[in-house]
Amino acid sequence: MAEVIVGIDLGTTNSEVAALVEGKIQVLATEGEQILPSVVGISPEGTLLVGTPARNQYVVYPERTVKSIKRLMGTDQRVGMGEPTYSPPEISALILRALKTRAEAVLREPVRRAVITVPAYFSDAQRQATRDAGEIAGLEVVRILNEPTAAALAYGADRHGERTVLVYDLGGGTFDVSLVQVHGEITEVLASHGNNHLGGDDFDQLLVDFVHSRFMAAGGPDVRGNRRAMSRLLRAAEEAKKRLSFEPYARLREEHLAERDGVPVHLDLEVSRAEYEQLIRHLIEGTLDSVHQALADAGKRPDQVDEILLVGGATRTPLVSQLLEEKTGLVPRQELHPDLCVAFGAGVLAARLAGHEIERVLVDISPYSFGPSFFGFLNGVPSEHCYRPIIVRNTPLPVSRTETYVTMVDDQEAWQVSIYQGDDPHALNNILVGRFLAEGFSRVPAGNEILCRMDLDLDGILRVTVTEKRTGLAKHVTIEGATTALSEAEVISAQRRMQELFGDDEEDEFAGEDEFAAVEGDETNLIVESEITEEEENRDRRVQISEARALLERGRRLLDKMNTEDREEAIALHEQIENALNAAEWQKLREATTELADLLFYVEEG
Ligand code: AMP
Repeated sequence: MAEVIVGIDLGTTNSEVAALVEGKIQVLATEGEQILPSVVGISPEGTLLVGTPARNQYVVYPERTVKSIKRLMGTDQRVGMGEPTYSPPEISALILRALKTRAEAVLREPVRRAVITVPAYFSDAQRQATRDAGEIAGLEVVRILNEPTAAALAYGADRHGERTVLVYDLGGGTFDVSLVQVHGEITEVLASHGNNHLGGDDFDQLLVDFVHSRFMAAGGPDVRGNRRAMSRLLRAAEEAKKRLSFEPYARLREEHLAERDGVPVHLDLEVSRAEYEQLIRHLIEGTLDSVHQALADAGKRPDQVDEILLVGGATRTPLVSQLLEEKTGLVPRQELHPDLCVAFGAGVLAARLAGHEIERVLVDISPYSFGPSFFGFLNGVPSEHCYRPIIVRNTPLPVSRTETYVTMVDDQEAWQVSIYQGDDPHALNNILVGRFLAEGFSRVPAGNEILCRMDLDLDGILRVTVTEKRTGLAKHVTIEGATTALSEAEVISAQRRMQELFGDDEEDEFAGEDEFAAVEGDETNLIVESEITEEEENRDRRVQISEARALLERGRRLLDKMNTEDREEAIALHEQIENALNAAEWQKLREATTELADLLFYVEEG
């Protein structure tokens, strides 16, 4: 049996180790924890601490604790943990040794060889210091791997001909953007840019300042000189920030944050995502300047980039992908856990060097997008069939996301919630997967905020909860098998079943189309009629779309079997199909799918 090689992401804030386990690249965990904080310390009793205990000690004994040692790699500086001082490779070696021990415990065999990742901009001295750290830890460093290249390997970008990949890495304290040219085993970093002092920690700080000023505006005392209160505020802000990536509001509550004249003062306020985004927008826009610079250095235009990969915990901030998409027209990929992506890539290379065939990292993702229809404007015309997904396809599972909607009329007491699967902005072009009535809202003017939360788990169970924000009144529905592909016949029969169900469902008081027509009069009848023909058209379209997707999947599987010429043609057709799908250009879709089907037939036969 080949000797195991592990892949290590030796990060500024956190480190991880990955390896091939039961045929899959996995980030290895001790007691359920995959992330090891890159912090080392010596307790007053003389015990060596690595990871979480060291990070906890930092608050109390910063002079006995070392963090962010990666910033000093390649320098002569020495750091202290109590009395003696240590070189940066020695400190890094302690982190590597902890990861080696973890890997040995999980794999149940000695681990002597590793691939270790470093930032693309690391100098020779910094790379050598990393090798030294490995050696001190008892690891032969078989390869030093650039972090953006690791991300590209994790996503399998090296398996699709020559690709230009933009890796956007926003962590806690550092930001890097790299343009990587990938072609099979050969990868080249074309350009890399960044800011060594920008990251999620800065977002926390802005939120702390904002919350503190609102706390004071509400009559709270100034706590900026109170270290304990400020560290509680910082922790609350970071948690709120993370929630705001998935929810439109976050509440910060800290009992007894401070005192005034001996009386406890509590913090209790709510921050909206919109407010938060306003605070951090200029920082994210600043990162786009670096993206622009990296492209300019590499002599590439945005439309020459094939893929954008997101790395680093702070890229979960929705504004990051939103602004990147606006700038480049590409939807950034984030189906791999952004904190673990580099470790995964190191694991892929490590496994390959040990002689295993690894294409890319496989994780469970949602194959479809899901969301409710709502009243809004479709191509400038008011419509009750507007649609925007809450869960976007390719999101890792399990996932939980919430969006806000507002009532359209005064005294609106109910919302007929229709849940669709698909990506088309016109709800009726997607597949209806569930419907229920949320009612009993307060009789207030239009604009009453209603939250819709979607939870999708690994078993494909989708739970939708609709809550009136002001009262907390909630209603939910559970949809099973949401991620299972339905055949056209199944879709139709599911729709029929649902129609029947609505008719019988007393609790939900579903207003069926007949009732709807009765209330609305003849005019609505006309609309209902026209919807029937539209419905037929939609059905054809759905078949066309699902066939195109299946064909793309088949095409991707066969790419490796093709000669260069066929592969290039297939990739071009994949692109045409994807563009036609995105732009809803049905005729073009038909032509491109026919061509691809012919090509695949020929490849499969050959
Ligand atoms: P990394 O250095 O890659 O581990 O990134 C850590 C940074 O990501 C920290 O600033 C975290 O607060 C931030 N982060 C982690 N999860 C989220 C999230 N859900 N939304 C926004 N930022 C996050």
